Formats: sequence, structure tokens, C-alpha cells
Amino acid sequence: MKKYYIGIDLGGTNISAGVVDEEFNILAKAKTRTNCPRAAKLIADDMAKTAIEAATKAGISIDDVEWIGVGSPGTANSDTGVIEYSNNLGFLNTPLAALIQETINKPVYVENDANAAAYGEFLAGAAKGSNSAVCITLGTGVGGGIIIDKKIYAGFNYAGAELGHTVIEVDGAQCSCGRKGCFEAYSSATGLIRMTKEAMEADKSSKMFEMVKAEEDGRVTGRLAFDAMRAGDKSAQEVVDKYIKYLAVGLTNMINIFQPEILCIGGGVCNEGDALLLPVKELVAKEVYTKNSPKNTEIVIAKLGNDAGIIGAAFLGKAKK
Ligand SMILES: [Zn+2]
Repeated sequence: MKKYYIGIDLGGTNISAGVVDEEFNILAKAKTRTNCPRAAKLIADDMAKTAIEAATKAGISIDDVEWIGVGSPGTANSDTGVIEYSNNLGFLNTPLAALIQETINKPVYVENDANAAAYGEFLAGAAKGSNSAVCITLGTGVGGGIIIDKKIYAGFNYAGAELGHTVIEVDGAQCSCGRKGCFEAYSSATGLIRMTKEAMEADKSSKMFEMVKAEEDGRVTGRLAFDAMRAGDKSAQEVVDKYIKYLAVGLTNMINIFQPEILCIGGGVCNEGDALLLPVKELVAKEVYTKNSPKNTEIVIAKLGNDAGIIGAAFLGKAKK
């Protein structure tokens, strides 16, 4: 008998569920809006509905599924199934697993979403085959997940791996967490956009002004500085250089702490590919503590995109065994 698992990526905007087989293939997906803020019970009911819809699409019954795993923003107690705190969802000590089980009588596992995504990349993506990996997502924020000896490391209180909230510039830019100068404040897409706007403010002759008008709705995006750099704009080049410098500092810190086999970076800005990866690797190689060692962490770009969260969540039941 083939075994099937369901992974749910619970986000502030969408609930995405996928049926995953033992070879980490996603057989079918279903999606609905999270519509938060609203009562946790209503969100849990929609999560169960979305899981059942994904099963139906995959041509199986929800009874054929071994278990359901959920990646959620915030502090997810993977032993009790309770989301202890999520600012995004407005959850406080929410028994999410139990609420889903009111509709679907299967084991339900929860984990922080960034940890689940890291686990997905470790199982089936850019960190596959390694024993230890650190995965960093450069999105609206900077998310982190740590795999040590093939297991998710989340700290004694499930709140660990907040790698984005380590300071890389004392008294630097304000971060959403309350600190100043966090890795997240510089290396997130939000940080890149802020630095791009600052550079435009300082150089009114920058090509970025014309290029931003050509963008869909005239908004400054994380892509603008990279595109303008390729068009030969000096200020854009400086923004990219600055972004890469901070990113390399943050990544070097992570390598110096964990020395993982694989350090995987994901998120929209990674679509820049080698324009981002090569200079980052070069700077890290110069700064990392083990620069003279024959064994060094390999920095790679994440492979699974949003599927990492679904695949990682689907296998949380295995992670607990
Ligand atoms: Zn912070």
C-alpha cells in the first residue's frame, strides 16, 4: 500500500494544502484564503476543508492519509500541537492540531513555517542528502530554519531559529521585532526596497526613476536595483553591492555558528541567480572563520519554492518519530 501525507502551509494570506507521497511528490494541491483576523476555529475548519479538497483532487480519501502536518507562522509547540503565539494570525495558545482534529480524525502535527520549509528543502530540495543545513528565506522578512543531525532544531521553547533577528549593524535600521540593525532589516526584500528608495532619494538622475515607471504599478520592487544595475546605473550598482555586503555578513555569521553542510537561501531575490549568489559566495569565502579549511559550507539557492513548506509539513510525523 502506498502511503500519503498532507502538508498544510498556513500563511497570513493563504492556506495551501498538498497531498504528498513517500517519494516527496506533491500529487495535488488546494488553496483558500486565510481571511485573518478571525476565530481560530474558523481558520482550522477551512484548513480541514482544504486538506479534504486536496485529497479528493489526488483521487484518494482523507481516510487514506497517514497524518496531517501544518507549518504555521509564530511559535508552534510541536509536542502539544498548540500555536503559542502568532502575531500574523492573532493566535495566542491556540490548540490548532486539536481544532483540525474536530473535523479530521487523524494525527495532526504543527511546526513553525520557516522550520517546516527548511525541513522540506532538507528532505527533497537543495539540502537533500545532508546531515545539517541552515535555510534562510529572503522575503518580506528573513525566515530561518535549522536542521541538525537530520532533525529540526527549534530551541527548548520552540521559538528558536529566528536567524533574521540577529543584529548586523548596531543602532542600524529599525526592525519589526523592536531591535535595530537586524539581519532582516537589511537582507529582506523590504530592506532591499528601503535601500533602493534611499539611493533614489540621493541621486535624482538615477535610471531607476525611469525604470520604476515602466514597472507594473510604478512601485519600487526588490528587482529594480538589480535591473538598473544591468542597465549600467551607478547608484543601482551601489545598492546591490550594499545589499550583497550585508547579506554576506549575515550568512557568514550563520556559518560561523552552525557550520552546516548546506546553507540554502530562498525567496524572490534569489531569482537573480548568479548575480546574487556568486558575489555573496566570494565575500563569505573571504570572511568565514574556516576560510583556510578544506571543508566549507556550500551555499546554494533553494529549489522547492513554496512547495518546501508543504513537503516539510507533510513529513512532520516522521520528524517526530
Ligand atoms: Zn529584528
